[in-house]
Amino acid sequence: MQDITEFRDVWVLAEHRDGKLRDVSFELLGKGRELADSLGVKLAAVLLGNEVEHFCPDLIHHSADIVYWADDPNLAHYQTITYSDVIAEQVKKYKPEILLIGATYLGRDLAPRLSKRLNTGLTADCTGLEIDKETRLLVQTRPAFGGNVMASIVTPQNRPQMATVRPRVMKALAEDTSRQGEVIKIPVNITNENLMIKLLEVVKEKKKSVNLEEADVIVAGGRGVGSAANFKLIEELADLLKGEMGATRDVVDAKWVSSVHQVGQTGKTVRPKLYIACGISGAVQHIAGMRESGTIVAINSDPDAPIFQISDYGIVGDINHAVPLIIRALNRTT
Ligand SMILES: Cc1cc2nc3c(=O)[nH]c(=O)nc-3n(C[C@H](O)[C@H](O)[C@H](O)COP(=O)(O)OP(=O)(O)OC[C@H]3O[C@@H](n4cnc5c(N)ncnc54)[C@H](O)[C@@H]3O)c2cc1C
Repeated sequence: MQDITEFRDVWVLAEHRDGKLRDVSFELLGKGRELADSLGVKLAAVLLGNEVEHFCPDLIHHSADIVYWADDPNLAHYQTITYSDVIAEQVKKYKPEILLIGATYLGRDLAPRLSKRLNTGLTADCTGLEIDKETRLLVQTRPAFGGNVMASIVTPQNRPQMATVRPRVMKALAEDTSRQGEVIKIPVNITNENLMIKLLEVVKEKKKSVNLEEADVIVAGGRGVGSAANFKLIEELADLLKGEMGATRDVVDAKWVSSVHQVGQTGKTVRPKLYIACGISGAVQHIAGMRESGTIVAINSDPDAPIFQISDYGIVGDINHAVPLIIRALNRTT
């Protein structure tokens, strides 16, 4: 039986790609700060990679008190076993009570492996995290049973309490360059023998991948778009605005667009600066995934459509008329 009273502090995995820290790291630090303050403990970031020391100040400026930093050529590219080995060893040594990881491709692979290794629970895709002041437990909220209920999950007997959170669900704090913190280098001992996979080459996928979570602009379509063919208009407007194309679940179910575009409770949670909702009624399950967008513009032929209640600007009209007009106007100005 674990002595859970030995565990202190909140840890966040700092993820980076292509030489940049990923936004999800800052978002988790924002939430981590709130949890750590509520528990009266420190907030730490865990950073693994090759020649990544320069990221440490950035993590401290985004509210980490400590950065545990591991540097090794064998950590340059993510591998499940090496990353799990290094992090599990440090968790056993420093005993954090909470460990937060982004629900990214990397996080979705790493978090389950780590939780098994550490013999603790893991709640995936949390939409809410807070501390129960009486018990010090992390209350992890996420949709369950196909989104029909919101489940509050706790890990009472094991530590760390582990949760993953999708990008854009939490809010990053503003950078504070005056913040000071501690940087602790983690010893790494990865030998060729414990590398089960040898990375020969990284080949970037040529196909344009959809990155709704990090898009500044999303043009999304619903059943009001009318057909799969009409979605070309939505795509064209999204491209013109250098954004991504989103969709409701109904059009994904109708196979007008692929599920990677789905926004909402059972799709992606997004927080772009601009969200243009075309022919979308504004069902609660859709709004759950986009209500935190900066500016929301809705185009709908029904003046009573619920989407107008959360929109900053509304256009009452047929999207097959309104969208080509917007495209034409943008083409004139670009
Ligand atoms: C458990 C559960 C989970 C769900 N998860 C999600 C989710 O993650 N994401 C999601 O989106 N939905 C989700 N749904 C489905 C959700 O309840 C709605 O059914 C869906 O969002 C509606 O999609 P829509 O707005 O495209 O279609 P509709 O509700 O049919 O709305 C179409 C809109 O288009 C307008 N319109 C029609 N023609 C035109 C035109 N020519 N020009 C302009 N406007 C026009 C209409 O006035 C209407 O407002 C979920 C449902 C359940 C039960």
